[in-house]
Amino acid sequence: MAGSLTFTMIKPDAVKANNIGNILQMINEAGFRIVAMKYTQLSAAQAGKFYEVHSARPFYGELVDFMSSGPIVAAILEKDNAVDAFRTLIGATNPADAAEGTIRKKYATSIGENAVHGSDSDENALIEGRFFFSGLEMI
Ligand code: GDP
Repeated sequence: MAGSLTFTMIKPDAVKANNIGNILQMINEAGFRIVAMKYTQLSAAQAGKFYEVHSARPFYGELVDFMSSGPIVAAILEKDNAVDAFRTLIGATNPADAAEGTIRKKYATSIGENAVHGSDSDENALIEGRFFFSGLEMI
């Protein structure tokens, strides 16, 4: 169903801080269904490819280093209007600007190390989901 899927990662900072369970609980309680999920670590090349759209940004090198610095949890999530609903749940990129009760407000430590990724469009949700999962892994 168009508009019903989004893609997320629990980033290395949140995994290191033992917040996988807390974040998955918030995702479940917000009514998202897990379509696919895996615990893995990106190589620098894979992180660079995933964030290629940001390659001209000054923080690209830092972002690639961070995202390949430790394990992550990648997942495809389903809910009506999933992309917008999930962006609301995670809050602003910079935790200092994130609304109370959002995942980033609770668990992010900086604009770079901000606990979770959430797709910014339906198109990117599909591209990002396919980056990590085959059709067989989506339930
Ligand atoms: P998002 O869609 O809210 O994740 O934000 P963006 O698409 O603008 O940026 C992608 C990711 O790059 C963010 O989630 C951060 O991890 C990282 N990022 C964005 N801005 C900065 C910055 O100024 N410094 C650093 N180090 N990382 C940043």
